Amino acid sequence: MMKRIVLASNNAGKLKEFSRLFAQLDIQIVPQGELGVTEAEEPFDTFVENALTKARHASRATGLPALADDSGICVPALGGAPGVYSARFAGEPKSDARNNEKLVTELSGKQDRRAWYYAALVLVRHADDPQPLIADGILIGEVLDAPRGDGGFGYDPYFLVPQFGKTAAELDPDEKAAISHRGKALRALLEKLKETGL
Ligand code: IMP
Repeated sequence: MMKRIVLASNNAGKLKEFSRLFAQLDIQIVPQGELGVTEAEEPFDTFVENALTKARHASRATGLPALADDSGICVPALGGAPGVYSARFAGEPKSDARNNEKLVTELSGKQDRRAWYYAALVLVRHADDPQPLIADGILIGEVLDAPRGDGGFGYDPYFLVPQFGKTAAELDPDEKAAISHRGKALRALLEKLKETGL
């Protein structure tokens, strides 16, 4: 029988991306909402702690292995902010437009425009797994003052990927998946999973 993993997210884009790669290992990804799991709190200051907490919560609620991710943008000139607060950088309700405006404002006059996207992925085989599989990935870029492109989401229109000379919002989805923080983390996690199995 095909094995199942619960995904500690209800984001349709993530579900699609994860499902495609896990299908190679004959593993089906089920979003936690389908199994009646409520969203966990994300109270920590690091991505990896938040991802671990979400994975444990989903696994405990379902009895299934669980996969969680946590991601965001880190800007060295701002001491790593927005970091784990990326989704709500400009406060509630969450707004990409206001988050980007705040980012550009805080960087105005600063020389160092470097930024990176970071993603942590955590897979627990069961809620008390002493050895969660942890993988991460990073995409280095620069913050622009004005948006370019209409693909992607979040900070993508302002996030220049120097190796392509394009913003993340100007890349097509396959191009982005091949180089993105989430894509890299996911491929690294699959390698680990191939070693030990579920
Ligand atoms: P979460 O991991 O779904 O909580 O996403 C955190 C936030 O980080 C998102 O709401 C975006 O603001 C930002 N973020 C994460 N990955 C990306 C990306 O690939 N492009 C643009 N923004 C991203």
